[in-house]
Amino acid sequence: MSEPIPVLVTQDTPDLDGARKMCATVCNVPGACKLAAQAQILDQIHESVIAMDLEGFITGWNKGAEQLFGYSSTEAIGKHILFLYADPDADDDSEGFQDAFLERGGRELEVRRRRKSGEIFWASLQLSLIRDELGQPSGMIGYLSDITARVEAEKIMRLQSRIFEHSEESILITSSDRCIISVNPAFTEITGYSAPEIIGKSAEILRSDQYSARFYDDIWSHVDQDGSWQGEVWTRRKNGEDFPSWASIGLVRNQDGQINNYFSIFTDISERKRAEERINYLAYYDELTGLPNRSLLYKLIDQALVEARRNRLHGAILFIDLNRFKPVNDSLGHSVGDRLLQEVAQRLRSAVRTEDVVARLGGDEFIVALFDITRREHAAVVAQKVLAALDPPCWIDEHELKVGAAIGISIYPRDGFNTESLLRMADIAMYRAKESGQDGYAFYSHEMNQRAIDRLKIESGLRHGIEHDELLLHYQPKVDIASGRIVGAEALVRWNHPTRGLVPPGEFVPIAEESGLVVRLSAWVLEAALRQARLWLTAAMPAVKIAVNLSARDFSPGLAERIQAMLASHGVQPEWLELEITEGMLTHSSDDVITMMDALTALGVSLSLDDFGTGYSSLSYLKRFPIDTLKIDRSFIIGIPGDGNDCAIAGAIVSMAQRLGHRVIAEGVETRDQLEFLRSLGCQEIQGYYFSPPVPADQFEAMVREGRTLKKD
Ligand code: C2E
Ligand code: MG
Ligand code: MG
Repeated sequence: MSEPIPVLVTQDTPDLDGARKMCATVCNVPGACKLAAQAQILDQIHESVIAMDLEGFITGWNKGAEQLFGYSSTEAIGKHILFLYADPDADDDSEGFQDAFLERGGRELEVRRRRKSGEIFWASLQLSLIRDELGQPSGMIGYLSDITARVEAEKIMRLQSRIFEHSEESILITSSDRCIISVNPAFTEITGYSAPEIIGKSAEILRSDQYSARFYDDIWSHVDQDGSWQGEVWTRRKNGEDFPSWASIGLVRNQDGQINNYFSIFTDISERKRAEERINYLAYYDELTGLPNRSLLYKLIDQALVEARRNRLHGAILFIDLNRFKPVNDSLGHSVGDRLLQEVAQRLRSAVRTEDVVARLGGDEFIVALFDITRREHAAVVAQKVLAALDPPCWIDEHELKVGAAIGISIYPRDGFNTESLLRMADIAMYRAKESGQDGYAFYSHEMNQRAIDRLKIESGLRHGIEHDELLLHYQPKVDIASGRIVGAEALVRWNHPTRGLVPPGEFVPIAEESGLVVRLSAWVLEAALRQARLWLTAAMPAVKIAVNLSARDFSPGLAERIQAMLASHGVQPEWLELEITEGMLTHSSDDVITMMDALTALGVSLSLDDFGTGYSSLSYLKRFPIDTLKIDRSFIIGIPGDGNDCAIAGAIVSMAQRLGHRVIAEGVETRDQLEFLRSLGCQEIQGYYFSPPVPADQFEAMVREGRTLKKD
C-alpha cells in the first residue's frame, strides 16, 4: 500500500461539489491533512470517493463507495481497482489510464462497474491526481456516481430521436400556439415541405379547404379536452394536392398542466383508400361491365322497397336473359363473349333513365329495376325499349352478332314487397317469355300479362289503323249559353276496328301516348279536322271553331310551323282552329313548352285547357300560359246542382277564369239543371249530351245548318 491520501479535514462539507473541490485543492497541499480527518471527510461526501495508489490499488474507500458498490472499506482497501470493473478486459479506462491521466490531467469518464451483488451499472468517474510534498504524483482519487438512470434516459432519447428520424409516419410537433417547431423526414416526404420551409409556420398551412373552419375547431377542442384525437382527415401537400391521411393528434403539458406542445403523427392513406375502393368496387360491381352486381342490386332493391312502402310507390323488376348468347360464347370464344356482354350492358344503360338501375347478375343475365313508375304498364314500355335497344346487331371484330332477350317482369307492390321473391317471380316470368322462342317479355301476374298482350295488340292494330284509314272523327258541338247557338266543335277520334267496330279513344289514346304513336295519331286527326273544315268552308256552312286534342308528346320543336303548314295547305284561317291540351301537361312543362304555346297563339290558333280541375295548377302557375279557355272537367259537372262541393268548385273555377280573363266552358253537361246552374255562375259555354253527343261530320253539319239552339225551357 502506498502513501495515505492527504485531504483537508473539515466538518463543514455541505454539498458534494464543494467537497469535491475542496478535496481536490487540499490534496495538493503537502502535509495538510491527517489520516483520521481524511477518513472522516471522505465519509461525509455522499458521492463515492475511492483513493488508490499509482498502480491502482485501493487506499481509501468512503461510505459513498460502500453504498455504491456494496463492499465495506475492509473488503475494498488493498484490492486492485479492476475488481470493480464490469468487464476487466474492456478497454475503457483500464489500461494506461494513469499515463493518459498524467498527460492530460483529470477527465470525466462514463464507465461500467460491477456491484458486490453482481449488478452492472453506469458510473461517472472523475479522477484527480495526488501529489506528494515534492509535487510528484503519489496516487489518485476517483469520484464515482451512479449515472445509470441518466445513461438509460439518454439511450431512450437517442432511440426516440432515431425513431423520429426514421419513422415512416410523418411527425409534426408544434408549440402551444400551433406553430410548427419540428418535423421529421417522413413529413417532408409526404407533404413536400422541407423542415426549414415549414418550421415557424402555422400548422394551418396543411389544411384542406374541403372542410369548414368549424371542422378543425372541433378537432382542436377535442384534443384540448381529451388529450388526443384520431381520425381520417384530408391534408394538403405543398403542391396544393389533398390526400387522405390517418392522423393522431396529442398534446404535452408541463407540470402546471399548461399545454407546451401539440404533436401529430399521420400517414398518407391514399393507397389504402384506393385499395379499399377497389375492394368495395369488386364487392359491389361487376368487373366486366361495370354494372352493379347481385349484392349491390339486392341492397338497392331493399332500400327502394322501404321507400316504396313509405311513399306508396310502384316499381318493377325486369329480369333480362339474353337469347343466342351461349352459341356466341361457345363458338367465338370468351373474349368475343365478354365484349358482347359489355356492349349489351351499354345498350341497356342507355335504354333506360339514369335513375333506373341496371345490374348484371352473372352470365348473360341482367336486371333492370324501375323504382318509381306511375303506371304498372310502364314496365312493359321499358321492356319494349330494352328489346328495341338489343335489336340492332352488335359488331365485334368482324362478327355481326344478333342477340335478343327474354324479359320477365314482376311488379311491386302487386307481386309482393320482398326482394328475393320479386326477383324469383321475374325469373319465372322470364322463362315464360322464353318459351315463346322469340324475343319478348312476360309479366309474372297473369292479369298483367293479359293486359300487356291486349296493349300490344292495340298498339300494333292502331299503327295499322292509322295507315289504313280505320280512323274517323266525330264532332261534338260547343254551345254558347247566352245565345244558345253552336259556336264550335270538338273533334274526337274514333277507331273503326275491323273486328270490334267503333273503339272509343279512352281505350287506345293512352296506349298511343305511352308508345309515342300519339304523334302520328295527332297528325292524322289534325289533317282530318282541317280537311273537314275546308270542306265545310267550301260548302258555305256557317263557320265554327274546330277543337283538336293534343298530347304532351306533340309538343316537340317545330310544332307551330307544322300546324301553320297544315293550315296553309288546307286554306283554313288559324282563328278556326283551337287546340285542347290537358292541365297535367302544364305541370310538367318547361320553358320550351311555353315558347311553343306562344308561337301557336302568335299564329292566331287558340288554346284551351282540357279537364281543368283534375291537375294541380296554381293560380300564379296558370298565369304563365297563353290559355284562352278553361274547360271545367266533367267530374265536377256530374254532381251539379245536388252536390255542394261540385257546385263550389265549378263556381270557383268560373270566377277564377273570369278574373284571369279566360273564357270558360263546362264539359259533360247532361241536364237542364246543370245548364241553368252554370248559366247562373256566368259560365259562357257548354259541351255535353244535353245538347248533343259527338256525332259524325254530316250530322254535325246538319245541326249547324238548321241553326239548332239550346232549348229555351
Ligand atoms: P276529352 O277531350 O275530355 O273529351 C271529352 C270526352 O267526354 C269525350 O269522350 C266525349 O264523348 C265525352 N263527353 C262529352 N259530353 C259528355 C257527356 O255529357 N257525358 C259523358 N258521359 N261524356 C261526355 P271521348 O270521345 O270518349 O274521348 C275521351 C278522351 O279521349 C278525350 O277527352 C280526349 O282526352 C281523348 N281524345 C279523344 N279524341 C282525341 C284525339 O283526337 N286526340 C287526342 N290526343 N286525344 C283524344
Ligand atoms: Mg278534349
Ligand atoms: Mg275533357
